[in-house]
Order: sequence, then structure tokens, then C-alpha cells
Amino acid sequence: MRRRLIGFLLFICLILFLLYSGYQLYYLDKAFFFCPIEYKQDTIIIRHDSYGSGDFLAERNGARKHNGIDLQADIGTAVYAVRGAKVIGARFHKGLGNYVELLHPQGYVSIYGHLSKVEVKENQLVRQGQKIGEVGKTGNAGYRGIIPHLHFELRRNALPLDPMKFLK
Ligand SMILES: [Zn+2]
Repeated sequence: MRRRLIGFLLFICLILFLLYSGYQLYYLDKAFFFCPIEYKQDTIIIRHDSYGSGDFLAERNGARKHNGIDLQADIGTAVYAVRGAKVIGARFHKGLGNYVELLHPQGYVSIYGHLSKVEVKENQLVRQGQKIGEVGKTGNAGYRGIIPHLHFELRRNALPLDPMKFLK
């Protein structure tokens, strides 16, 4: 009788452990960074058009520099969270248009601009690779001659980083 009770308790412990591990695995990042846009053969395409280049630190009007990269993609293309995060911004900005800002562990922040659709809310937790919105032409990407793209920024402790060094 006693042996059966111990067996039963061990069984319950095993179930709880499996549930807990499953929960941990669900939110665990599978890679250091995911690319926010899914490209064929994993080849990233940076926007280049008559309005400018989408490279990191490309020249912009006046003294302004481009603090991110422009990932060329059709309007409506899914945009994914690069790492697990908390949504700290899901708003409209004159330049960025509809954008999402994510806070990741270790002080990393990622920003996704010019979206046509935002599918997350502020303070929500997202998984790595979770769809957070769709590519659009909102904000200053609205000019006709500008090729549709995702404006993507990566920062750590407010310092802009070159996303190409992290996206593989
Ligand atoms: Zn940009």
C-alpha cells in the first residue's frame, strides 16, 4: 500500500517536471537571433532605390545616419520576433510609421518599422520566431519610389548595433 503511494507521488512529480520543462522549452530561444523576414535560401536582401540605401549607417538627410537596415520584402510579408521578448512599444511614429519595439534579455532591443499590420500589444510576451506583424509602407517609407521593406534596428543599452552581424 505504502509502495503504491510512493509510486503515485513519483508519477505526479514526473508529470509536473515534464510540464515545467515543456513550458521552459516553449519560451527558450532556439538560436541567438532569428532573421525577422524569412528569405529563400536565407539570403538577406537589403533595399537600394533612388531614395537611398538600406545599409547600416547609410547617409540620410542632413547629419542623420541610418541606425538600422532595410530588409526588402513585399507588403504583407510576415515579420518575426528575432528573440523571445517583452513588447515595450506597439505604436505609430511619424518616421517609423506603425512600429514594434521589443526588449530582449541582456539589454538587447529590436525595432520593426513601417508595418502595415501590428499583431502584438504593449507588455505582451512573445516567443522567438513569433509573428508580430506584416511589412508595409507606413511612416516615411510611404513615398511611391521607395521599395517596400522592413526597417529593422538592433540596440544594446541604447547603442545601435549592425544587425547584419547578428542575422545569419
Ligand atoms: Zn530604414
